Amino acid sequence: MTILKVLLRQLLLRPATNCFPAKHAPKSVSAFLARASKDTHAVTPPVPVPPGFRGKIAYERDKCIGCQLCVKICPARAIEFLPEEKKVRIFVARCCFCSQCNDVCPVGCLSMTDEFLLSSYDKYSEDLIVTG
Ligand code: SF4
Ligand code: SF4
Repeated sequence: MTILKVLLRQLLLRPATNCFPAKHAPKSVSAFLARASKDTHAVTPPVPVPPGFRGKIAYERDKCIGCQLCVKICPARAIEFLPEEKKVRIFVARCCFCSQCNDVCPVGCLSMTDEFLLSSYDKYSEDLIVTG
Protein backbone atom coordinates (compact mmCIF):
# COMPACT_ATOMS: atom_id res chain seq x y z
CA MET A 1 0.00 0.00 0.00
CA THR A 2 1.36 3.38 -0.91
CA ILE A 3 1.88 6.08 1.70
CA LEU A 4 -0.94 8.10 0.14
CA LYS A 5 -3.39 5.23 0.53
CA VAL A 6 -2.36 4.78 4.17
CA LEU A 7 -2.84 8.49 4.84
CA LEU A 8 -6.27 8.53 3.23
CA ARG A 9 -7.33 5.47 5.21
CA GLN A 10 -6.13 7.09 8.46
CA LEU A 11 -8.18 10.20 7.68
CA LEU A 12 -11.36 8.14 7.55
CA LEU A 13 -10.73 6.15 10.74
CA ARG A 14 -12.28 7.19 14.04
CA PRO A 15 -9.79 8.31 16.71
CA ALA A 16 -8.61 5.46 18.92
CA THR A 17 -7.86 7.68 21.89
CA ASN A 18 -10.00 9.73 24.25
CA CYS A 19 -10.06 13.54 24.12
CA PHE A 20 -8.15 15.42 26.78
CA PRO A 21 -10.46 15.82 29.82
CA ALA A 22 -10.78 19.61 29.23
CA LYS A 23 -11.95 21.19 25.96
CA HIS A 24 -8.92 23.50 25.93
CA ALA A 25 -5.70 22.90 27.82
CA PRO A 26 -6.03 24.60 31.24
CA LYS A 27 -3.29 26.92 32.54
CA SER A 28 -2.83 24.69 35.56
CA VAL A 29 -3.60 20.98 35.21
CA SER A 30 -3.57 20.39 38.98
CA ALA A 31 -6.01 23.27 39.55
CA PHE A 32 -8.21 21.89 36.79
CA LEU A 33 -8.17 18.42 38.34
CA ALA A 34 -9.05 19.90 41.74
CA ARG A 35 -12.05 21.71 40.20
CA ALA A 36 -13.10 18.56 38.33
CA SER A 37 -12.98 16.50 41.54
CA LYS A 38 -15.42 19.00 43.10
CA ASP A 39 -17.66 18.82 40.01
CA THR A 40 -17.19 22.54 39.37
CA HIS A 41 -15.66 22.00 35.93
CA ALA A 42 -17.14 19.97 33.09
CA VAL A 43 -14.90 17.20 31.82
CA THR A 44 -14.98 15.15 28.64
CA PRO A 45 -16.58 11.82 29.60
CA PRO A 46 -14.14 8.91 29.42
CA VAL A 47 -14.46 6.31 26.67
CA PRO A 48 -16.53 3.35 27.97
CA VAL A 49 -14.42 0.27 28.57
CA PRO A 50 -15.15 -2.83 26.45
CA PRO A 51 -16.61 -6.03 27.98
CA GLY A 52 -13.96 -8.13 29.71
CA PHE A 53 -11.74 -5.10 30.32
CA ARG A 54 -8.98 -5.80 32.85
CA GLY A 55 -8.66 -2.81 35.14
CA LYS A 56 -7.68 -2.47 38.79
CA ILE A 57 -8.03 -5.72 40.67
CA ALA A 58 -10.72 -6.12 43.35
CA TYR A 59 -10.51 -8.54 46.30
CA GLU A 60 -13.31 -9.87 48.48
CA ARG A 61 -11.36 -10.52 51.63
CA ASP A 62 -14.11 -12.34 53.52
CA LYS A 63 -14.44 -15.00 50.83
CA CYS A 64 -10.65 -15.68 50.64
CA ILE A 65 -9.58 -19.07 52.07
CA GLY A 66 -5.85 -18.28 52.04
CA CYS A 67 -4.90 -21.06 49.61
CA GLN A 68 -2.11 -18.92 48.04
CA LEU A 69 -2.79 -20.15 44.50
CA CYS A 70 -2.95 -16.53 43.34
CA VAL A 71 0.42 -15.78 44.96
CA LYS A 72 2.03 -18.73 43.19
CA ILE A 73 0.62 -17.97 39.74
CA CYS A 74 1.18 -14.20 39.69
CA PRO A 75 4.00 -13.55 37.17
CA ALA A 76 4.58 -10.04 38.51
CA ARG A 77 4.85 -11.05 42.20
CA ALA A 78 2.19 -8.48 42.92
CA ILE A 79 0.37 -10.55 45.55
CA GLU A 80 1.68 -10.94 49.07
CA PHE A 81 0.44 -13.58 51.49
CA LEU A 82 -0.24 -12.43 55.05
CA PRO A 83 0.36 -15.64 57.09
CA GLU A 84 -1.08 -14.41 60.38
CA GLU A 85 -4.39 -13.48 58.79
CA LYS A 86 -4.33 -16.13 56.03
CA LYS A 87 -5.30 -13.41 53.55
CA VAL A 88 -3.49 -11.56 50.74
CA ARG A 89 -2.80 -8.02 49.67
CA ILE A 90 -2.18 -6.90 46.11
CA PHE A 91 0.27 -4.24 44.98
CA VAL A 92 -1.46 -2.73 41.95
CA ALA A 93 1.69 -0.87 40.85
CA ARG A 94 3.32 -4.25 40.15
CA CYS A 95 0.28 -5.87 38.51
CA CYS A 96 0.46 -6.48 34.75
CA PHE A 97 -3.32 -7.08 34.52
CA CYS A 98 -2.96 -10.62 33.17
CA SER A 99 -5.96 -11.86 35.22
CA GLN A 100 -4.37 -15.23 35.95
CA CYS A 101 -5.03 -14.83 39.67
CA ASN A 102 -8.74 -14.38 38.94
CA ASP A 103 -8.80 -17.51 36.83
CA VAL A 104 -7.05 -19.66 39.43
CA CYS A 105 -8.85 -18.48 42.58
CA PRO A 106 -11.06 -21.41 43.68
CA VAL A 107 -13.61 -19.23 45.46
CA GLY A 108 -13.81 -16.36 42.96
CA CYS A 109 -12.86 -13.61 45.36
CA LEU A 110 -10.67 -11.77 42.85
CA SER A 111 -11.95 -9.80 39.86
CA MET A 112 -10.83 -7.13 37.42
CA THR A 113 -12.79 -3.88 37.59
CA ASP A 114 -13.19 -1.22 34.89
CA GLU A 115 -11.06 1.28 36.85
CA PHE A 116 -8.01 2.32 34.83
CA LEU A 117 -7.00 5.82 35.95
CA LEU A 118 -4.33 4.55 38.30
CA SER A 119 -1.35 6.86 37.85
CA SER A 120 0.22 8.09 41.07
CA TYR A 121 3.47 9.57 42.33
CA ASP A 122 3.45 6.99 45.12
CA LYS A 123 3.35 3.33 44.11
CA TYR A 124 2.57 2.41 47.71
CA SER A 125 -0.33 4.82 48.07
CA GLU A 126 -3.53 3.55 49.69
CA ASP A 127 -5.26 3.48 46.30
CA LEU A 128 -2.65 1.14 44.88
CA ILE A 129 -2.62 -1.51 47.60
CA VAL A 130 -5.72 -3.72 47.56
CA THR A 131 -6.51 -5.32 50.90
CA GLY A 132 -10.20 -6.02 50.39
S1 SF4 B 1 -3.70 -9.76 37.35
FE1 SF4 B 1 -1.82 -10.93 36.93
S2 SF4 B 1 -0.17 -9.57 37.56
FE2 SF4 B 1 -2.03 -8.75 38.43
S3 SF4 B 1 -2.11 -9.58 40.49
FE3 SF4 B 1 -3.28 -11.00 39.16
S4 SF4 B 1 -1.80 -12.55 38.48
FE4 SF4 B 1 -0.65 -10.82 39.33
S1 SF4 C 1 -6.46 -17.78 45.23
FE1 SF4 C 1 -8.29 -16.74 46.05
S2 SF4 C 1 -8.76 -17.87 47.92
FE2 SF4 C 1 -6.68 -18.39 47.37
S3 SF4 C 1 -5.40 -16.92 48.53
FE3 SF4 C 1 -5.75 -16.05 46.50
S4 SF4 C 1 -7.52 -14.74 46.76
FE4 SF4 C 1 -7.49 -16.11 48.52
